[in-house]
Amino acid sequence: MQEFSKFPTKTGRRSLSRSISQSSTDSYSSGKCGPSPALVSLLQSLPSGIGSTQRGGGWASEILMLCFFPGLAASYTDSSDDEVSPREKQQTNSKGSSNFCVKNIKQAEFGRREIEIAEQDMSALISLRKRAQGEKPLAGAKIVGCTHITAQTAVLIETLCALGAQCRWSACNIYSTQNEVAAALAEAGVAVFAWKGESEDDFWWCIDRCVNMDGWQANMILDDGGDLTHWVYKKYPNVFKKIRGIVEESVTGVHRLYQLSKAGKLCVPAMNVNDSVTKQKFDNLYCCRESILDGLKRTTDVMFGGKQVVVCGYGEVGKGCCAALKALGAIVNITEIDPICALQACMDGFRVVKLNEVIRQVDVVITCTGNKNVVTREHLDRMKNSCIVCNMGHSNTEIDVTSLRTPELTWERVRSQVDHVIWPDGKRVVLLAEGRLLNLSCSTVPTFVLSITATTQALALIELYNAPEGRYKQDVYLLPKKMDEYVASLHLPSFDAHLTELTDDQAKYLGLNKNGPFKPNYYR
Ligand code: NAD
Repeated sequence: MQEFSKFPTKTGRRSLSRSISQSSTDSYSSGKCGPSPALVSLLQSLPSGIGSTQRGGGWASEILMLCFFPGLAASYTDSSDDEVSPREKQQTNSKGSSNFCVKNIKQAEFGRREIEIAEQDMSALISLRKRAQGEKPLAGAKIVGCTHITAQTAVLIETLCALGAQCRWSACNIYSTQNEVAAALAEAGVAVFAWKGESEDDFWWCIDRCVNMDGWQANMILDDGGDLTHWVYKKYPNVFKKIRGIVEESVTGVHRLYQLSKAGKLCVPAMNVNDSVTKQKFDNLYCCRESILDGLKRTTDVMFGGKQVVVCGYGEVGKGCCAALKALGAIVNITEIDPICALQACMDGFRVVKLNEVIRQVDVVITCTGNKNVVTREHLDRMKNSCIVCNMGHSNTEIDVTSLRTPELTWERVRSQVDHVIWPDGKRVVLLAEGRLLNLSCSTVPTFVLSITATTQALALIELYNAPEGRYKQDVYLLPKKMDEYVASLHLPSFDAHLTELTDDQAKYLGLNKNGPFKPNYYR
């Protein structure tokens, strides 16, 4: 545990481009295009092996497959596979274990490559593995988990195993499982119960298989959304006698935990990972700074240089969006209700306006307030032709999309997630993702952001599992500031960042411990 009080000193390699993992994630969703016949014929005319479009045909076929068959996952799937429910299949991994239920164990090798790509941008978890390997801070931990099952969470699960835990895992969402990643985990010996496209019944069956196992009882819960916790409360309340703590990631799950706590029904300590400072900064500011342009470009191919944009709300999300737009040469206007955020926008060189003042001129409108009816039908009526409208805030109520569903307006779906709403005079407004969160609907989340969350989850589990009796009561806690700082410090070597150490004199002057925490708990 001493290791957790120190900061990393090793210089890490700067991570490989996250675009690598992104494009490989994309590959599951698209997959319609293929190589031109001319290119296939050119490659086939090369010496034997090179250029074959069959599997195992040498390097050129690998390149062909990766470049032109982005729906590659399909080539690893037996076509009869789709008709049979994984629950009805008998599958074993190469070590003879059948303690899992996934779509197709034969996809394991492909999934392993996906995990290895994710590892390149999740070096904090890898370094946590190395640092804690001797001590195994999770030795004896039996973790039952329910999260998205993707390459990034696989890196987390395998880290927990490397730190000594036994894990049983199900998916928190019926659509988000990467089947090949689930297969790779099963092949590596993790008891994973998940596949893409589960029914509601399958969903609860998978959770049940994780919790209800003869001779194995969980002593830690890692949840994303609260469904697993809810299931254990409802079906197996006795399990809580052995549980040392719950770690919860999502807004919804945390809300449910606070409700349980308020009602006096929370019977173990719980850690709210969602509100950790590091996670919040990355989810809101940096993730949005990266993904706003991705979402807009994928849907509209718009060029931003010289475009008039208005961003509603200059909080964390708004600041991230504006920084990205400004960097591309867009002329950015801000609307705000809070004078402090408005003044920050002025200091950052943006014009602060009322939406009414600019609505006729702007080319793009982006909402980031977490509020409702920020863009009303009246605003939409006054927008110019081809104005792009989208939302980066919490819900689809920021833009009054319902008011556009009237008989005089025509909706034309022009692309996935892109609608042209057409007024009787021919004016079109380009509405993205029907007003839902643009980046979550139309782009991907960078692996590095997920690395922050996953590292926070791992540390929260270690803290709760190892905490001496009485440190945590039956309540919901934030990760201690020192741990939050430790999560950040584990990510610094990716950038070859060198942290300055306080001298004894300076530490005394500031009234701080030299090893942190460096800020009070309320600091954001
Ligand atoms: P925040 O509270 O820091 O910022 C919101 C800002 O909007 C505040 O400054 C507030 O004063 C301002 N505001 C409120 N009503 C307004 C109005 N009518 N007109 C103009 N400004 C108004 O919150 P945040 O962290 O920036 O998050 C904003 C929203 O984005 C939340 O709903 C949050 O859940 C969501 N969010 C989205 C993502 C994503 O990936 N898209 C990530 C994190 C959070």
